[in-house]
Amino acid sequence: MSRQQPAPVKPSGMELVFFYVCPYCRRQIPVPAPLQPSMIACDVCRRNFPIMPVDRHSVHFVRIMFGDGPAAVDPDYL
Ligand SMILES: [Zn+2]
Repeated sequence: MSRQQPAPVKPSGMELVFFYVCPYCRRQIPVPAPLQPSMIACDVCRRNFPIMPVDRHSVHFVRIMFGDGPAAVDPDYL
């Protein structure tokens, strides 16, 4: 068994996270790309509120641009 550290690992996938401000307490809540209109719960004040979904084509475009993760790696690390 090797005691050496493994080489730095590339990302194998990605998720886009969007922030929504709670209308009750103004907390910014991170939500991974919501593609459907939905209700979210604030983790501070515990109240629920509806959020607007994001466009699936825009999310898909960004994922393609980054090769679903690995293509976003800092070129200095390659
Ligand atoms: Zn809140």
